[in-house]
Amino acid sequence: MGFCLFGNVALAARYARSRHAAERVLIVDWDVHHGNGTQALVEQERDIHFVSMHQWPWYPGTGAAEDRGPHQNVWNVPMRASLPAQEYVDAATDAFVPDLVMISAGFDSLAGDPLGAFTLEYEHIELLTRFLIDRATDWCAGRIVSALEGGYVPERLGIACVRHMLAME
Ligand SMILES: [Zn+2]
Repeated sequence: MGFCLFGNVALAARYARSRHAAERVLIVDWDVHHGNGTQALVEQERDIHFVSMHQWPWYPGTGAAEDRGPHQNVWNVPMRASLPAQEYVDAATDAFVPDLVMISAGFDSLAGDPLGAFTLEYEHIELLTRFLIDRATDWCAGRIVSALEGGYVPERLGIACVRHMLAME
């Protein structure tokens, strides 16, 4: 319902399961919008867990915390705008041990984005990145894939992408 023609991360998660012997895939979506397309594409797959952090209430209006999907493999983390950033970081946890972690890296969650009202800064992107790298190292030898999603201030998006990639070294 946003700007995505394909559900890239959902497709990639299914591909990893069918072609690369990954059994369990964790998708963490920190785009400011609920990943409603991703949820629709993976909620029937019990071995794909989906965590979406998103502003609430906000477009597209889906992604309530009670919406766990038909198989309870979805964790929606709706948040008010302007919460302390640490709360966004802390929200990305659960006890599932994946073979592969995928990040829906939407940078419209940065402060100042015209399509959101979150308050993340570059250092919070680095914290989230390192947090997920650390967890992926414990879970699955650091297998992690990040896909660019939203972000509508080009200068900030560019810097955020670089900081995100440097944090993955
Ligand atoms: Zn978005």
